Amino acid sequence: MSDHYVKNVEQMRSFGEDAEKEGVDIEEQVPVSSPPASVSPDPSSITIAGRDASNTSITCKHRGKSRSKQGKDDKNSCGKRISDLSLQGCVVSAPVGKNLNRPGHERTLHIQGTGKILQGKSETNGNYVTIHPSKNIQEAHREDGFKLAKKRRPVTVDTAKAKTSLEALKLSIKQLKWKEFPLGRRAACDIYWHGVSFHDNENIISGQVNKFPGMIEMLRKINLSRAVRTMQELFPEEYDFYPRSWILPEEYQQFSTQIRMVKENDATVSPTFIVKPDGGSQGDGIYLVRDPSDLKLMSGSLAKQAVVQEYIQKPLLIDKLKFDIRLYVLIKSLEPLEIYIAKEGLTRFCTEPYQEPSQKNLTHVFMHLTNYSLNVHSGNFVHSDSQSTGSKRTLSSVLYRLAAKGVDIKKVWSDIIALVIKTVIAVVPELKVYYQADIPPGKPGPTCFQILGFDILLMKNLKPVLLEVNSNPSMRIEHEQEVAPGVFEYVPSPVDEEVKVSVIRDTLRLMDPGHKKPSISQPRVGGFEHGEEIPMEAESQERSPDEGVLPSLCLKQVYPKYTKQFNYLRLVERIATLFIRFLGVKGNMRLGPTAFRTFIRTCKLSNSNFTMASVDILYIDITRRWSGAIPESKEAGMGLQAFVEAFFYLAGRRFKSLVMREQVASLLEMCEAQLESQPGVEDRRSVSCSRALPRAVKTQTLGLTNPHLNSPAPLRRAASQDYRLHQRLKPRTLRANVEN
Ligand code: ADP
Repeated sequence: MSDHYVKNVEQMRSFGEDAEKEGVDIEEQVPVSSPPASVSPDPSSITIAGRDASNTSITCKHRGKSRSKQGKDDKNSCGKRISDLSLQGCVVSAPVGKNLNRPGHERTLHIQGTGKILQGKSETNGNYVTIHPSKNIQEAHREDGFKLAKKRRPVTVDTAKAKTSLEALKLSIKQLKWKEFPLGRRAACDIYWHGVSFHDNENIISGQVNKFPGMIEMLRKINLSRAVRTMQELFPEEYDFYPRSWILPEEYQQFSTQIRMVKENDATVSPTFIVKPDGGSQGDGIYLVRDPSDLKLMSGSLAKQAVVQEYIQKPLLIDKLKFDIRLYVLIKSLEPLEIYIAKEGLTRFCTEPYQEPSQKNLTHVFMHLTNYSLNVHSGNFVHSDSQSTGSKRTLSSVLYRLAAKGVDIKKVWSDIIALVIKTVIAVVPELKVYYQADIPPGKPGPTCFQILGFDILLMKNLKPVLLEVNSNPSMRIEHEQEVAPGVFEYVPSPVDEEVKVSVIRDTLRLMDPGHKKPSISQPRVGGFEHGEEIPMEAESQERSPDEGVLPSLCLKQVYPKYTKQFNYLRLVERIATLFIRFLGVKGNMRLGPTAFRTFIRTCKLSNSNFTMASVDILYIDITRRWSGAIPESKEAGMGLQAFVEAFFYLAGRRFKSLVMREQVASLLEMCEAQLESQPGVEDRRSVSCSRALPRAVKTQTLGLTNPHLNSPAPLRRAASQDYRLHQRLKPRTLRANVEN
């Protein structure tokens, strides 16, 4: 592990500096007179299918203050209003609006340079193009929806624990015409909405909960860093979107030694680091340092748990301001893994013009930290009703602006999708361990889903960087406003409402227990790197007939859709499956020494060179180190991270000549084959992450859905073949996708 980091530190200078060489600074380098933008904030220069949009008959108004009067139907799913079609640059396809139902033929209109597509029916009349959605589909959906809504029992939602997401949730339930239980309900509900954690309500034995057990723990800064680091060891190129990080106080020595070496090698290098307390949020306790000696290591008599991370010195700027992206991601299911990304997100802007860090400006939080909770208290914070101005804007308005400057936003968007999928793949193994501990197979329990908030920074060279993942992204649709000096009040925030209500409503739609349509789309074989997904297209085919007048879904499935492209990364998950299999008592998350020996014996990993005595020493050595690394852990034994380290060690011993990821893949194949060839070996645990099923049914289901759990040999071999095939294809496909 440490070698890996020495190597990484060597690359440290290039991480931020690549941007300088290749970068596009939106403010400075893109010529203002760049190509007569087919996408431009200026409506007169928008061309639709080769025509000048100024001649079109799309009637588009600026969104006025009287937003509440405008019918909710006049939005597409990600909060776009039809009126935004022109001036705000938010491109809407297949808008759903009552005033647009006119006869015509199906038509797809491309806005040049952005990949944006306007879909719907169009009439051409000389130079005029009128866009409106397909009447037949529209009305059929509305009529069907009306009839079905009458017949179906409404879905029930327990909102008693929803906390700050309550308001957005209420609006969503109302739009869906579902039934809310604000005080809870004695009988079971279909869906339970928790504001904080899975454990907000301990008595749920059926239905669906909007939180996974263990998600909060998994996404704390230290745990996320560790999980990504494990993936970086196996796939350094694929996981280069996460800044180099060290865990404090544990890795203080490595950190200071490595920084000293870098500085000694080149005196002109002066990296900056950002220190983030573990479990902190909203910028609390964050500070920048330029030297290890500036770290504040103690809090009272206790060592501070924190992550110190390379600071990205050259972020992309808009209006000379640093900003970050808040993207909403739905994990619909762990088994099989299903991930959706909201096509609309938020961007949060700093309120002081950005300068690269210097000793003088290190403490300027309004320059370096994009947190809304901090910047809202700066005198420069701009509250705006518009989605494309102010200190909080929609993601699509920012992408639109970048597209207008000639940026390849399709590439940016596909890089963001890749970042999200890879990050989820990094945290899933441990999540499964938490899941089986809380909801062991056989025990009745709910199924889970969860909306996560990904914070992403774009570097000057447009490469997305993961800052953190929030297990509990704020779903507030009001913002704090200073109504008198020093007096803050919550007032409605149109931008938040537009984005967050759509995300919650569409999450509910996807989780609708009566939703018959299989939600898994056909995995895509190729084409990911072309980045055809950008957050501006509506997706009419996702609608279900019983949803009546609801807009198309703003959540876009990315996994299993892109299974082929990313499945090879799921090696640690397969290690977790082995781990879970050998865990003893239900509810346990750690492997005892006997279980570890059983694992070694069953998989035939000991021999004359590696005796059972060496196995015991390995167990004691690794377990002791990890219990020191996780001081708060109460349980004794070997946790998943320690088991993964032991597994890497065993793989390295056995397959010395291979590169690390191949060592691990080979050992996995070996272990899985051993387990399979011994039908007598009890499958002690299996994690289905789904409602308890009769054992026979469960075995069948798992065999079909998860190639690594109880899987028939051909399926598992397919996963391994995926890996090998990917190794061959990688240089031409995915590598191009992660490097700029
Ligand atoms: P918190 O959970 O406290 O918000 P974050 O990790 O999101 O912690 O960091 C807070 C802010 O600091 C981010 O929104 C971003 O503006 C800035 N930031 C965080 N990490 C980095 C980094 N590695 N490089 C540059 N800026 C960063």
